[in-house]
This record gives sequence, structure tokens and C-alpha cells, in this order.
Amino acid sequence: MDITREIFWNVGSWVRWPAYGLGLIVVLIFIYGLSKRIRHWRTGKPEYRLDNLPRRIGSLLSFGLFHKRILREPYPGISHLMMFWGFIFLLFGTFLIFVQEDFTKLLFDVVFLKGTFYLIFSFVLDFFGLAAIIGVVLVAFRRYVIKPDGLDNKLEDLVGLVLLFLILVTGFLSEGLRIAVTRPGFEKYSFVGWWIGELFYSPGGSGAYLRPLHAIVWWVHLLLALGFIGFITYSKFLHMITSALNQFFRSFAPRGEVKPIDDIEDQEVFGVEKIQDFTWKQLLDLDACTGCGRCQDNCPAYFSEKPLSPKKVIQDLKTGLSGLGKSLSTEEGAREQAAPLAGTVVTEEELWACTTCGACHEACPVFIDVIDKVVDLRRYLVLMESRFPQEVINFFKNIETNYNPWAIGFDTRADWAKDLDIRTVTGEGEVDYLFWVGCAGSFDDRNKKVTRSLAGLLQKAGVNFGILGTEEMCCGETARRLGNEYLAQILMQQNIELFTKYGIKKIITACPHCFNTFKNEYQQYDGRYEVYHHADFLWELFKEGKLNWSTGLDITVVYHDSCYLGRHNNIYDSPRELLASAGSTRLVEMDRAREWSYCCGAGGGRMWMEETIGTKINHIRVEQAASTEAAVVATACPYCLTMLWDGVKDKGLEDRLEVFDLAELMEMAL
Ligand code: SF4
Ligand code: SF4
Repeated sequence: MDITREIFWNVGSWVRWPAYGLGLIVVLIFIYGLSKRIRHWRTGKPEYRLDNLPRRIGSLLSFGLFHKRILREPYPGISHLMMFWGFIFLLFGTFLIFVQEDFTKLLFDVVFLKGTFYLIFSFVLDFFGLAAIIGVVLVAFRRYVIKPDGLDNKLEDLVGLVLLFLILVTGFLSEGLRIAVTRPGFEKYSFVGWWIGELFYSPGGSGAYLRPLHAIVWWVHLLLALGFIGFITYSKFLHMITSALNQFFRSFAPRGEVKPIDDIEDQEVFGVEKIQDFTWKQLLDLDACTGCGRCQDNCPAYFSEKPLSPKKVIQDLKTGLSGLGKSLSTEEGAREQAAPLAGTVVTEEELWACTTCGACHEACPVFIDVIDKVVDLRRYLVLMESRFPQEVINFFKNIETNYNPWAIGFDTRADWAKDLDIRTVTGEGEVDYLFWVGCAGSFDDRNKKVTRSLAGLLQKAGVNFGILGTEEMCCGETARRLGNEYLAQILMQQNIELFTKYGIKKIITACPHCFNTFKNEYQQYDGRYEVYHHADFLWELFKEGKLNWSTGLDITVVYHDSCYLGRHNNIYDSPRELLASAGSTRLVEMDRAREWSYCCGAGGGRMWMEETIGTKINHIRVEQAASTEAAVVATACPYCLTMLWDGVKDKGLEDRLEVFDLAELMEMAL
């Protein structure tokens, strides 16, 4: 058992010098390529991403090493995992052989790859090498035979996959030829190499050609491996590094939060004009994109034939980043070189088509955020160039004059409550909870019914609550997502002043958009509150026995997850629990439910814009709901309620489907 695997068997140990010389050159090429990318990222603005270190390491392990997100789709997940772990083991095995041959054996005459350890080592390496080959073949089959929509095939994909395949094949071939010559019995543990060796071994023959053939294959294997390493930092295979970095540096801020423009009064450029106006992490995002297309496959805008693909946005911005070129040597030079991105690299149509639904972020295996880039580019268009759709002008104007998107006088905001005995907060400490009605709940006739239902339920449960009446304003959510950060900040700060004046600590709202903003964004201005969406709140009241569904419901209902309640705030269960608790309700699900829910089409300010291109997003969602046996679609969002009901009417499905908010259904169940 004293024969161990030697790197330089048959090719002579003198080879180490040219081989390592070549290796050094390749490592320098690799480092140069990487340093160029790092230099690009460093042109971005600063952003602190070294908090939460244990969580970051956990993210790297579960999403990087163990492919937690990629494995949500078994075929691509498992094939990538096989390729990934295969190469990790092969790289580690090669490293151990290198350490033995060039250090421990050379300097101390110590050989550690021997005995039982060597047998296990041989088996494990062949096992993972085989897994890697199968992985590469499966990946290539998917890419070139199955051809999923989201994947486009560039030359670099082909070059990379061919290189990987040839590296693996020549590695096994080299091992097999060595075994065919040496044939020690214990090499049966290198089961793939042994099998290949058997193919070449002929008991009667001289086998004289085996040694030169081995030397050729050995060199080819080495050159291919070095070639691939050199290729990594100049191709999409850079994602081997950037994906891991992105998984490590990902944001742990609440998913639904859009960052403010800090010190807005002092800024010269609002939003992102040029690529360097992004932060370094946003630039790293661009290089981390593997082009896998998962974001695009789940994007409601893309799915409904709008001119927006999140993958394309990221890839186009990446081209902008790569185009920085030589003038990067000075930051000033870099700034001069790049043109404004909004309207050129990313078109205005793309930017205004985004509903900020977050499906792309949910799907992305490396946590690339598209919404932050879209909002930053919209901010540039709105605040620097005053370029936005006509409907958006009306939206801003209405908010500025009446604090709501409808052109309705602000003094009618509380008219829905006129005949109800609801307290309007006028002083500190009067109520336990503020019932934040929101603009839709205050002004839209259909949603006013929801507001009245919810107010009735709160009264029945004995909740001490009040409303702000005509003092309530828009929460600022939509203005921020439409790029009007000035307006958003003014609204947010005015609301916070009001909450402080009345000592508001706890807020209930029926609108996931208001909920998200109060919960995740008001803290940017020290507005910290206990915020409840009515789905959670009603469910708690039911569990505490403060609400009982004495009548119950006898309906088949499908629940539509609002993006801002579900994906952005992880509230999936309480609406379903509520519905299930209401008598003989039969709850069914659409194919796209929970984190894979399909947007209603109204988020990101789209509620206020015409949808003239492609299929209407709400029509698609209504079709999805109609494909279930449900007679009722339950929602927990005023935007969703409006969009889905409009969709039902447009499609003439009023006899087949009804749309209600949870609060209305629960009121019926009382
Ligand atoms: S947030 Fe939604 S609409 Fe916008 S790009 Fe992502 S998936 Fe598409
Ligand atoms: S952004 Fe993410 S999901 Fe989309 S193509 Fe790039 S890596 Fe894939």
C-alpha cells in the first residue's frame, strides 16, 4: 500500500516547474480580471454590509454551499449541485495531492495519502468527479435541448460547459491510463479510473503506447484546467465568486423596505443617473447575475408581455458597468464616460412597467434586488428630469392638493364613518389603537365597504380604537415607489408628527401598502409603531375569543396573496386561518400562491397608470382564480380588491366569481 497517487507520475517531476509557472501566470490573469471587477464595484457609493455576521455566514452556507434556493426547482437545482460539489471535492483532492507532493513529501518525506485514508480519498474523488460529469451533462441538456424560456445561450456558456466537461473527462482518462499501466489492486477504489484502465489494459499486449498517451492527456487536462481558471473572471463564470459574495452581503433589511434618499436637501443628483450612483453592493448585484432567468419566469410584467424583464434590466446595467473601461482610473473620468442610465440603458417603458411585486427577488438564487434599482432610476426621471407618464402627474398633483390620489377633497376623507359611532382622535392617550383607514378605504366606494366592515368588527370585539378623520393623509408609499421621494418624505414626516401629537403607538390598517410603509419605512425617520394588518389582527381577536363566527360561511373560497402582505411581509397564514375558521368554508389554492403569488398589477404605482401593452395583469390573475372551483376570491388589500373585481367584470365572470375582502367575509360570518 505504499504506492500513492503522484502528480508527476510518468511526466517527470521536472514538469512541476513549467506547470507551476503556467499556473502562476493563470493566477495572475485571474487576479487581474477580478481586481478589475472589484475596481468597478468600488466606484459605487458606500454601503455598510458587515453587520449580522453569523447570519451572513449562515446565508452563504445554506444558499451558496447547499443551494437552498436553487433546489426549489429539482432538475436545475440537483444538476447544479452535482456540478458544484463535484468540482469542490476535485479541487480539494488536487490541493491535497499538491500539498503532499510539493511540501510534505519533498521537505519532510511525509506521505499522508496512504492506507485506508487513500482508499477513501480515491473513492470519494471518483464519486464526486462522476457526479460533476453527470451534472455538466444535465446542465447542458437543459440548456441546449430543453431550452427553458428564461435561459439564453451565449458563446461563453458553451465555452465554459465544454471546458468543464473536457477537464473532467481528461482527468478521468489520465487516471485510467495511469491505472492501466500500474494496475495496483487497491486502485479499484478509484472505480471510474479503474474501469477506464480496464478498457486500455490488454493482458497480452505491450501497452507501450499508454505512457505517451497518458503524458499527452495529462498535459491537455492541465492546460484545460488552467484555461478555465483564467476564463472565470472574464466571463459569466465570475458568478462562482460573485454569487457567493452576494449571498454573504445580501440585505437583511425588511423585504418591503425601499431605502430613502438620505439628506435629500443636500443632494445634487437624485436617484441614479450614472452607474456609479449605485452603491457598491448594487454594482456587485449586477456581476452576480448568472442570467438564469428565474426572475423573468416569475415577473408578472414579463409574463403579460410588457417591455420589462428583470433579468434584462440587470444584464443591461451589467453591460453599463462593464463599459466603464479605462477611464475608471479616476472617479471623475468614470463619471464623465457613462451616460444617464434611465431612458437609455434601461428604457422608460421598462421602468414604469414594474409593479414592485418582489417576485423577481423571491426567485433569484443570489438575492439580486431589482426593485431598488428600478426605484432609483425612477427617482432620477421624476426628480431630475420630470419625465413620467401623464397619469403619474395627476397622481402627484392629487396627493399634493388633497393628500390622496383621487381628485376628491380631503375634507371628505372621513365621510364613510358619518353614521357610525367611531371616535376621531383629538388628543393623546384617547385610544389604544389608531385605525389607519388609508386613501382607498376612505375614498373608493368599493373599499369604503371594507372599511365599514372592519370598523364594525373592531367595535364588536371591543377594541378601543379611533381614526384620524380628515387629518389622515396618504402614507407616502406609492409616491416613494413612483420615484417622488420628496413628496414621500414630506408625507411620512407629517404623519409621524401627527402620530407623535396624538401619542399613537399601535396602528391597525387594512392596506398592506400602508402596513408595509409604517412597519418598515417610518422607522427611517424614528417613527416606530406596533403595526397590525387586519388579517393578523382579526385572527388574534378570534383566537382570544373576542370574535366568533356565529353564522359561518358556506363557500368555496380562494385566497389571493397580496405582494405587500405576503412576499414583502411574510404574512401568509393568518388570512387562510381566518377563512378556514369561518364555518364550512372550503379553502382552495391557485397554482400561484403564497410566495409564488401572482401580482394583481397595481403595486409600484401601477394602480394609477393605464395598462395599454400586452395582456392585463389582473385579467391573468382572475383567470388563475377562475381555474379553481372557488366561487369567491378573498383578498386583504384594497388595490387587489379593485384590480380583481375589475378583472372579473372585464371578463364577464360576475356570475361565476365574487371578490371580497377578508373583513367583509368575516362580517358575513358573524
Ligand atoms: S418587482 Fe415584480 S414586476 Fe418588478 S421586475 Fe420584479 S417581478 Fe417584475
Ligand atoms: S437576477 Fe437572479 S434570477 Fe434573475 S437572471 Fe440574474 S441570477 Fe437569475
